Amino acid sequence: MEKICSEGKLITSVHTRKGRSFSADWYISAIHPCTLLKLFEDPSLLPKAFRNRMDSLPNTYSAFTLNIKLKAESFRYINHSCYYMGRYDRMWNFDKPGDEWPLGFLYMTPPDIDQGEYASKIIITAPMPWEFVKEWENSTLGHRPEAYVRWKEECAEKLLALMEKMFPGFRENCVEQINTASPLTIRDWYGVKEGSMCGFAKDCNNMAASQLPVVTKVRNLLLTGQNNNVHGFCGVPLTAINTSEVILGLNYVLDKINQSTHNEQI
Ligand SMILES: Cc1cc2nc3c(=O)[nH]c(=O)nc-3n(C[C@H](O)[C@H](O)[C@H](O)COP(=O)(O)OP(=O)(O)OC[C@H]3O[C@@H](n4cnc5c(N)ncnc54)[C@H](O)[C@@H]3O)c2cc1C
Repeated sequence: MEKICSEGKLITSVHTRKGRSFSADWYISAIHPCTLLKLFEDPSLLPKAFRNRMDSLPNTYSAFTLNIKLKAESFRYINHSCYYMGRYDRMWNFDKPGDEWPLGFLYMTPPDIDQGEYASKIIITAPMPWEFVKEWENSTLGHRPEAYVRWKEECAEKLLALMEKMFPGFRENCVEQINTASPLTIRDWYGVKEGSMCGFAKDCNNMAASQLPVVTKVRNLLLTGQNNNVHGFCGVPLTAINTSEVILGLNYVLDKINQSTHNEQI
């Protein structure tokens, strides 16, 4: 979707890059609010104070991901996530590009259909601040400069070196092929500001600062997704219930869920 049209204070249609348009009574945005604001044909549809606030809210760290295709029968399947923590005290505190990286990462072996004893792939995800890729922020997917490609290779090497430390011989015996993704990749595939992993950062000392209601000043526009309330596979579905209940009525979805759980139990 690349454009949102409005009349008065109501959204009237949304338009896709392929030239299709859609109209509805309600519009629900599940993308980063800063990305949403850029799609409005009339930027003043939402108040300036709201737009400024969205722009100024800090976002959570992004990530660098190393995907590894493993050689056959080289690395055992692990049925849980694993963590490498080099600097537990500083895991989430990077300052600037050039700081020691990675300080830690998550690695997992996603299961295949009929998973056997050995894994076919590993995904390694390491937190990374947006500032690490800021110098290439104007580049687009498939058109990145050579320096960025080299930098990605260096990041992959650093992660592989730590895997090697944990699993001696890993590189030679297990790695068949690698592929990497950076904060720029996340920004460009998911449309998330600064490639943020979890959207707006929440501050436990100032909860009000990051509170974003699912209703907006535009009567037929609702928000949902990781930027409202809580992120991730638990938070996003919970907010989806909040958002849909604005239309369906308070507790409508919750009652249905409770009813079906109750029916399953009897
Ligand atoms: C590398 C990484 C690792 C993570 N690991 C975990 C984890 O282990 N556990 C966990 O709970 N959470 C994890 N998260 C966070 C979790 O993935 C997110 O909180 C969650 O997926 C957000 O869901 P969402 O629906 O709000 O947004 P998204 O899942 O980002 O969905 C938004 C969708 O909108 C689409 N979109 C954007 N712009 C447009 C447009 N203009 N037109 C049409 N479509 C558009 C995007 O392509 C995307 O498909 C991780 C995130 C990342 C990036």
